[in-house]
Amino acid sequence: MLDYPFQDVPAAGETREIAEGVLWLRMPLPMALDHINLYLLQDEDGWWVIDTGIALGPTEELWEGVFRDVLGSRPVKAVLSTHHHPDHIGMAGWLCERWRAPFYMTEAEYLTGLAYSRTTREHYSWAMEENMRRAGYGDAQIASARENFEGFGSIVTPMPTAYRRLTEGGRLIIGGRRWQVMIGRGHSPEHACLYCAELNILLSGDQVIPRITSNVSVPGTEPEANPLRDWFHSLERFLEDLPADTLVLPAHNTPFRGLHERLRYLIEHHEDHLLALEEACEQQPRTAMDLLPVLFRRKLEGHNLDMALGECQAHLNFLCQRGQLLRGLDEEGRYTYHSVDSTLPLRRRERPHDAADDSPIQV
Ligand SMILES: [Zn+2]
Repeated sequence: MLDYPFQDVPAAGETREIAEGVLWLRMPLPMALDHINLYLLQDEDGWWVIDTGIALGPTEELWEGVFRDVLGSRPVKAVLSTHHHPDHIGMAGWLCERWRAPFYMTEAEYLTGLAYSRTTREHYSWAMEENMRRAGYGDAQIASARENFEGFGSIVTPMPTAYRRLTEGGRLIIGGRRWQVMIGRGHSPEHACLYCAELNILLSGDQVIPRITSNVSVPGTEPEANPLRDWFHSLERFLEDLPADTLVLPAHNTPFRGLHERLRYLIEHHEDHLLALEEACEQQPRTAMDLLPVLFRRKLEGHNLDMALGECQAHLNFLCQRGQLLRGLDEEGRYTYHSVDSTLPLRRRERPHDAADDSPIQV
């Protein structure tokens, strides 16, 4: 059982003290996941802001309230985003401009955020369509995706034009305490978490969340990616390096203790998904779209369908790259997956070493 020591959840734009100089701030999100947790760390001469909220709705107004009612006479002295997703970087540019504050991020997250936040409708490409077709989207779904495509420039303020790089093992001294940078991968390319041994607190961003599982997806820009392998490595590494009784401050849900239990659950959760997919591919070749109900019981539409399919592809790429599934291409241009023991005729299979396809499997 995870332990949630803070029953009193702050309303949007309000804070709760977690420890001396560590505040939990909530901001709203206009989606099913209706909030993000941000954290404020007090330094001698101002505040560090950890993650920023999305640039939509009342976020800016709520920030002005925080400056007035919470920070007192002290400025925002630094802004840090754990990773490049819009709810984390949305207000980073605005905050850094407003306070002329430096921006901290890892290199891969900064560059990815910079690119995605400048993406427009013109960047929609044949490669993205092909990825959807191979996953099993039909013509109507592809047309609708083309119609609805836009980068996330409309929900983030322009990214800060310069940054200070966070790297694995790097240390930040904030309020006289050391916060060590720990990099996690799989949910995003180079996600920064911060661990303070003195407080035994982990600022975990989206890398460890107690009640929802972080999306681990193959992005349309890298269809052969294997983010699930990176995700397993990160979970195992956090399990080895962090104490079991760490107080985890996540970007969604509420702060909790029970880090090891949660990490073990997540590892098992994905292992169960891998087994279920392998089994489902034993009898006949299946597409990623066919396999969605193996992983998700609820009905999926729109953005949720895209994320679910991306997650299904992540599991399938993992199994293919380990040689546990083989991938073929059917007449309609869809990838089909079947288990290596399948008795299907070999001509239907895309074999690891003589792949005729343009995206060879790396074994
Ligand atoms: Zn995220």
